[in-house]
Amino acid sequence: MSNGFRRAVVTGGAGFLGSHLCRELVTEGTAVVCVDNLSTGSPENIASLRGHALFEFVHGDVTELPDIGGDFDLVMHLASPASPLDYARLAVETLEAGGLGTMRVLALALRCRARFVLASTSEIYGDPQQHPQSESYWGHVNPIGPRSVYDEAKRYAEALTSAYHRHRGLDAGIARIFNSYGPHMRADDGRMVPTFVRQALDEQALTVTGTGEQTRSLCYVADTVGGLLALAHTDHPGPVNLGNPDEFRVLQLAELIRDLAGSGSPISHVAGVTDDPRRRCPDITLARRELGWYPEFRAAEGLRRTIAWFSGVLNTDLVTPTP
Ligand code: NAD
Repeated sequence: MSNGFRRAVVTGGAGFLGSHLCRELVTEGTAVVCVDNLSTGSPENIASLRGHALFEFVHGDVTELPDIGGDFDLVMHLASPASPLDYARLAVETLEAGGLGTMRVLALALRCRARFVLASTSEIYGDPQQHPQSESYWGHVNPIGPRSVYDEAKRYAEALTSAYHRHRGLDAGIARIFNSYGPHMRADDGRMVPTFVRQALDEQALTVTGTGEQTRSLCYVADTVGGLLALAHTDHPGPVNLGNPDEFRVLQLAELIRDLAGSGSPISHVAGVTDDPRRRCPDITLARRELGWYPEFRAAEGLRRTIAWFSGVLNTDLVTPTP
């Protein structure tokens, strides 16, 4: 158990989750080196950190991890395309980031004897046949389907992390993150919340895939980042589910976002996606027990803040206070 880290590496730190994580670590007084190839992230996400004495940006790819000398006591590995549109476009790169990239980042953590946290995903459960999903469930994944580049990359990254923990003595923890949302998502990344928010704000039809009866549980970014840090501050190996167990039908979420945005947009249905999970809901018993963590933001509050940010009303530095 550690009280505050001295120096951390955050891979993927210019992305949606990574940029919030960098900001939280710097706020805690940790010096952060953010390594990112900017393939799906953006310099704007870390603009408020540039020039900060505790923040350093290294433009580089985790598969050829640049020389970031010195010692670290925390390594958090988030670098990977994460939205279905991004990993379809960057299919091989996604497998490389999860495989070779994870291996390189694990080696760095081992060299420094640092705490290592892997940002894994609920996608490793595939289209689950157990509901809600607990960490003991092995998943139901199509290994060659269009989503497999992401699902299997993360499953392999989990296997690598477990092997470094079990056989090399690395202090490693695996977080299985469920759908998270909030400010700093890209409006065009194809994920459900930014898509619906943008459509609602533009008074365009909200495009619900399939019937909209499939379910999702959404976790506000401040809660997800809090969970990642809670895991970092223990020596628990995981895997630990981090998500919000409030489950909504996709159609219900579209209506909620439209109403919160004060929009008159209609709802339209478009073709479903291959291997799209029908139900997705975390069992967070383990996170509550081992990390003392649970999400605090209700969907309406997190979505209200997200809509405010997308409409340019909410400043980036106002996203994390408690609800
Ligand atoms: P994101 O696309 O916004 O961020 C990923 C970041 O990684 C980007 O800045 C990108 O440029 C960088 N990156 C990608 N490949 C890289 C490489 N080879 N080398 C260096 N940098 C690279 O996505 P996000 O939503 O912030 O997700 C961050 C992590 O959390 C990912 O590993 C993702 O799998 C995981 N995750 C996210 C969610 C979610 O709902 N957001 C859910 C489950 C898991």
